[in-house]
Amino acid sequence: MTNLQPVRGTHDLLFDDLRRHRLIEATAFDLAARYGFVEIATPIFEFTDVFARTLGDTSDIVTKEMYTFETKGGESITLRPEGTAGVARAFISGGLAQMTPLKLFYRGPMFRHERPQKGRQRQFQQIGVELLGVASPQGDVEVIALAEHILKDLRLTGVTTLEINSLGDTESRAAYRDALVQFLGARKTALSEESRERLARNPLRILDSKDPGDQAAVKDAPAFTDFLNMASQDFFKTVQDGLAALGIGFKVNPALVRGLDYYCHTAFEFTTEALGAQGTVLAGGRYDGLIQQMGGPPTPGVGWAAGVERLAMLLPELTPAHRPIAVIPISDDEVTAAQSLTHTLRRAGLAADLGYGGNMGKRMKRADKINAIVAVILGADEVREHAVTVRNLDTGDQVKVPEADLVRHLAAYR
Ligand code: ATP
Ligand code: MG
Repeated sequence: MTNLQPVRGTHDLLFDDLRRHRLIEATAFDLAARYGFVEIATPIFEFTDVFARTLGDTSDIVTKEMYTFETKGGESITLRPEGTAGVARAFISGGLAQMTPLKLFYRGPMFRHERPQKGRQRQFQQIGVELLGVASPQGDVEVIALAEHILKDLRLTGVTTLEINSLGDTESRAAYRDALVQFLGARKTALSEESRERLARNPLRILDSKDPGDQAAVKDAPAFTDFLNMASQDFFKTVQDGLAALGIGFKVNPALVRGLDYYCHTAFEFTTEALGAQGTVLAGGRYDGLIQQMGGPPTPGVGWAAGVERLAMLLPELTPAHRPIAVIPISDDEVTAAQSLTHTLRRAGLAADLGYGGNMGKRMKRADKINAIVAVILGADEVREHAVTVRNLDTGDQVKVPEADLVRHLAAYR
């Protein structure tokens, strides 16, 4: 027997769930365009190296979460777990380096093999932006402002908080890294086995760990902010001043980190209390070293990605969907006339629905089910008189309208 369950961690979307997704994507796309971002669509799979090399071989994504398979040609392919690596790959392979500054928006499915729970799927949807070729802190402010604008238009600023931190430049990060290794080296036994391994290879990632023991051990660790050199402090201050000047509220969270080497300066997240453990709805940061590390020309970058499912769960009630017109023939004799009338209404730009069968009662029930705003009823009299009966389904009021006037009459219901 065929297993007809959706694969664990995947979902079918329809009705209001899908409307929520589309609303979020459309809002983000429209606002991104207003900020000068153009859409890029990269493939949903890439050579495995694209992710393995950019995300680092100690990240959770690479060590545990990737959907990797071998093609018939013997190449290793991975379903994209996130959007930045593919965009960076396209930037390099498509010769886009000539076009900086470049502002890119993307949307689409991502795939991670992790334990499904509320707000955590194996196939999920992201929207995101990348601003490439801008080294100045105004770039950070702009992408954060766009994120905030999207959340505001979705009426989610009340339930989300912007947290920011600075990871500093290379020099500051090296100084911090030394201090952290010293601090955690003295507490090695409290760390998970995985984090003991990270201590040598990528200690910053330990700050990001979800292991409760690790989290307790790093609780009193030195803070990044205390190790920022002058240039990094200035950068961070300019970002904060820029946000304040735009009236965007934020909280500095010294524990907010991105554990990968190419991340620097600003790290930020919009978080919520409303989704339990899956509290981060949008996450981003500056990644000045990424493009170069992938083999491209040195190109600064800053961007973010947001999980559409998590945003969808936070959305307030949707406004009801557009209400159609129901065309209802009283008997089978009027079906042809009704079909032709429905066609005319659709040509005129109106949403019209023609029930397929059953008696008048059954057709009225269908009109109710699709939440029609008005019924256009055709009986033998109407057909003879070249007229229709229009019934307002909310009030029950009805009038006879000459067919020639119908489109004009229905404009009130558009
Ligand atoms: P988390 O800490 O929740 O695992 P992450 O650090 O792995 O998140 P990012 O890689 O920064 O997440 O992805 C950006 C956003 O994408 C997240 O803030 C979240 O909204 C969403 N997201 C990430 N993984 C999933 C998932 N498995 N299911 C649904 N949404 C996800
Ligand atoms: Mg994760």
